[in-house]
Amino acid sequence: MKSFVTFSLLILQILSLLQVAVGQSVEDFPDSDVFFQKAVRRPAPKRDNAARIEELIKQMTVEEKVGQMTQLTIDMVTSGKHQEIRLDQAKLEKAVNQYGVGSVLNVSNQALPIEPWHEIIGGIQTAAQKTRLKIPVIYGIDSVHGANYVQGATLFPQEIGMAATWNPELMKRAAEITAMETRAAAIPWSFSPVLDVGRNPQWARLWETFGEDPYLAKVMGTAFVRGLEGDDVSNGKQVAASLKHYVGYSFPLNGRDRTPAWIPENYLREYFLPPFAAAVQAGARTVMVNSAEINGVPGHINKHLLTDVLKNELKFDGFIVTDWEDIRKLVTQWRVASDEKEATRLAIMAGIDMSMVPLGYSFSDNLIALVKEKKVPLERIDDAVRRILRVKFELGLFENAMPDKSLSANFGRAEYPLIALEAARESIVLLKNENNILPLAKNKKVLVTGPTADSLISLNNGWTYVWQGSETALYPKEKPTIQRAVAEKIGSANFNFVQGTRIIRKPNTTSNNNPTNIDEEVDIAKAVEEAKKSDTVVLCLGEGSYTEHPGDISDLTLPETQLKFAEAIIATGKPVVLVLAEGRPRIISRIADRLAGIVLALNPGNEGGRAVADVIFGDYNPNGKLPVTYPRFPGYLATYDRRAFETDGKDYKTSPFYPQFEFGFGLSYTTFAYSDLRLSSKSIPADGEITVSATITNTGNRAGKETAILYLRDEIASITPNGKRVKRFAKIYLEPKQSKTVTFKLSREDFSFISPDNKPTVEAGDFTVIIGNLNDKFTLVQ
Ligand code: BGC
Repeated sequence: MKSFVTFSLLILQILSLLQVAVGQSVEDFPDSDVFFQKAVRRPAPKRDNAARIEELIKQMTVEEKVGQMTQLTIDMVTSGKHQEIRLDQAKLEKAVNQYGVGSVLNVSNQALPIEPWHEIIGGIQTAAQKTRLKIPVIYGIDSVHGANYVQGATLFPQEIGMAATWNPELMKRAAEITAMETRAAAIPWSFSPVLDVGRNPQWARLWETFGEDPYLAKVMGTAFVRGLEGDDVSNGKQVAASLKHYVGYSFPLNGRDRTPAWIPENYLREYFLPPFAAAVQAGARTVMVNSAEINGVPGHINKHLLTDVLKNELKFDGFIVTDWEDIRKLVTQWRVASDEKEATRLAIMAGIDMSMVPLGYSFSDNLIALVKEKKVPLERIDDAVRRILRVKFELGLFENAMPDKSLSANFGRAEYPLIALEAARESIVLLKNENNILPLAKNKKVLVTGPTADSLISLNNGWTYVWQGSETALYPKEKPTIQRAVAEKIGSANFNFVQGTRIIRKPNTTSNNNPTNIDEEVDIAKAVEEAKKSDTVVLCLGEGSYTEHPGDISDLTLPETQLKFAEAIIATGKPVVLVLAEGRPRIISRIADRLAGIVLALNPGNEGGRAVADVIFGDYNPNGKLPVTYPRFPGYLATYDRRAFETDGKDYKTSPFYPQFEFGFGLSYTTFAYSDLRLSSKSIPADGEITVSATITNTGNRAGKETAILYLRDEIASITPNGKRVKRFAKIYLEPKQSKTVTFKLSREDFSFISPDNKPTVEAGDFTVIIGNLNDKFTLVQ
């Protein structure tokens, strides 16, 4: 019997893998709230470590305690760079044995295979075993879209792409694989997810976010945390998450990274806090701090946000880590302290538990002195150490911090790339399909051209093998770029590729000489000639890779070189399908109306080439939807939840806002009709609940997936209400002519907003429910 069950399970597993391999997976994702309520439940602790922690704290010297609060970068314990990196015993001795450093992070410039990781981490933990109290070191790394700093790991779409899937089940699965592949390398802690809500499309880290909507970010972020941490973070398959960058980092007034934001607290709580609050509730073990400032207060000294809100109000019991060198920057950049010692005091008293120093010992020296001078009370230090030790115990590091070779069985399994492919396919958003130009026939002549056509870099973006994702040589040779995937799909007879223009990296004088992307012509004339001989042109534009300061731009418009190239191709009169591999919505209004099709690939990862080819040639029916508003003008940016009077119009001269594509927009090769919007009641008490349902029918002749998004509009409120807000969503699979009904329940929290006294407030009055093209009203009575 048992073997029959095992055999049947195996068959089921193979069938589901095949399903992923050949096309649409048929699972429904019926209600974002049902998923969320389950994912947000914090697993019961496996054991109570409190007594052991207190016992340790009693024995620790001030120096040992400060050591635990210190995090250094890997170069502080190694010599050499890249793959040549080796542990340096003298450096290790100083860091771990002399200073008792409790945490190490990062890579020395580039990703390592599992074995060197084991050697390095094994060496660090061996050193920790030689310390008086044998407290293990916690290693942390940016596993942002897969274990992107472990060579050979599976890479998923970046968060912006995962958001476009509107599929938190898939997000959770991707995070589970990320956790397994990270932990297999003996790394128990990831600096992810990014829970900053991406509400400024200029910002160089927009693609690291789940887009502009707090609810979507909250559901996806909680899925990410549950996937990373699982039900037992010590079990060798999970890692501790780090929610970053708490909070308000993503809304720089001037669009540049690490620059000031002005966010009143009620808006902070309305738009930026909810994903963090939910992920803390879900049990996330660590939080990383906003490197910038809001309302004139740098994130790292914001006691109100770090201690009053995060630790006391939200009851966060893990530890808070700074971002890179951020205590020092309180002096050098923010100028809120005249020296590093004062900066250290301000940060620790604000609630920082661990400093990502990461390049020296000044933090440790300063903090030891501050404690001895009684300028930082020992209770604050003990609180920080208690939090850090708690996470180390929970991760099982006291039982075994040494690399475990058996965990390699969880690395690089055959099904992982199929799941990454499924995620990449679901992340692609079809934005325009004039006269059903797509899908393209496989037996017509196609020219593939453009700077992102032959680039795994553009498909992946930053945090890929290296910080900036910019090293072509490190990308796996077997993963096809878009042009290669198209060639593999349709065969050489009908396929042609010409580069056209390319994106190269040059030093950027405005950004500490960090390299940045420059567009240059390669062979536009040749591309134009070949376009004339083709039936269709697949024009691949977009961005190179970047993150943080090197990704700062002064104009959201697609670079002139690319636009001119596009215009030359369009002038051939051949139908042009634009594919955009980009991390933020680069403005295309100059060419958009003259394109036959637009496919937004965002940053789909290493399976992105295949996913794009599958969509273009109809082997996959696209179902992604925009997680951001796609602007039409660089000087006219707004989010979908703008005020009601800023309605969408047909003409920007007469209407306040006119985006290129609306948030939530995305086409399919089939069509869906919404009908039968039903509300359980037309009038409900403020504490009551309302059930909303609608039926969706596939009215075309292809199977497909549709995300139904429920928006709510508060018609009249004491502070100007939003035009609409996302409250729920569901993603369903429909065969041709099939119908399904989605049902959602809304209650008090959904009707509330944060009023100027920073409290959730519910006011009586009319609300409009919007799903698809349907809407209806109900009244809330007090
Ligand atoms: C980034 C963080 C990252 C850290 C460690 C910082 O520069 O802002 O997102 O986790 O570096 O690599």
